[in-house]
Amino acid sequence: MIIAYHRPRSLEEAQALLAQPNTRPLGGGTVLARWSGAPIAVVDLQALGWNRIELRGNELDVGATVTLQQLLESGSCPPALKKAIYLEMPLNLRNVATAAGTIVACDGRSPFVTALLALDAKLILADEQETVLPIGEYLPFRPAGLICRIVLPMHVRFAFEHASRTPSDLPLLCVALTQWMTGRTRIAVGGWGTSPALAMDGPEASGYDAAVYNACYHANDERASAEYRKEIAMALARRCLATIEA
Ligand SMILES: Cc1cc2nc3c(=O)[nH]c(=O)nc-3n(C[C@H](O)[C@H](O)[C@H](O)COP(=O)(O)OP(=O)(O)OC[C@H]3O[C@@H](n4cnc5c(N)ncnc54)[C@H](O)[C@@H]3O)c2cc1C
Repeated sequence: MIIAYHRPRSLEEAQALLAQPNTRPLGGGTVLARWSGAPIAVVDLQALGWNRIELRGNELDVGATVTLQQLLESGSCPPALKKAIYLEMPLNLRNVATAAGTIVACDGRSPFVTALLALDAKLILADEQETVLPIGEYLPFRPAGLICRIVLPMHVRFAFEHASRTPSDLPLLCVALTQWMTGRTRIAVGGWGTSPALAMDGPEASGYDAAVYNACYHANDERASAEYRKEIAMALARRCLATIEA
């Protein structure tokens, strides 16, 4: 149950409030509004001006409170990332759920976070040093800390492919692949478990099929078997490569 609601107008005010016990940042509230644990106070981030999307050189700077729909509609959002966002949740929720809230609350089925993991997105924390936390380091531990921005590389080739039961269902399996100008190739897979998984991050694409196959080794759940996912992952990764090479 939420027992107190705050809407600070400055970062300092927000930090002072968040230093209080049992107090959580509030993004879109789609998860926190259903909170059934111990009573909490929430600090709504919407008046902090973190709802901007800015192209800065080779990077896209996405404010923590940018909604998924805002990002999907942005002209700067790569088409393959739009595809992942579209699959994440229906329009009404995309209009409310924030980029940071979705990362913090995600499980392994999140197409959006699978895409961010392949893109090697950087989370910027709102502390004095503006600590930069690569999403791959954040996801396994989810350390507490206020995320103010998410930074994505722009001059990369990026593809996202998925297999779902219906066109709008969360994928049984999704594969996201990013290739930098240097040849560096990073692949993430999602569709089960507590977090999307990083399959490979290498100097080139060779060995991608074995990497995604191995990443699905324990991918058994009630929706699909690991055997199925291992095979499909190789096909989807191949499709991603064909897309970026086209
Ligand atoms: C009816 C319903 C259906 C749903 N269906 C789906 C679905 O199909 N697919 C899906 O993936 N999800 C679904 N969800 C879950 C939910 O919508 C997402 O996880 C959502 O993206 C969370 O974003 P939010 O901004 O609303 O987070 P909030 O509820 O505001 O916060 C979620 C968590 O993130 C923390 N947080 C928020 N912002 C920050 C920040 N800037 N820094 C640090 N921590 C922060 C909060 O403290 C909290 O712990 C559903 C939810 C509902 C209510």
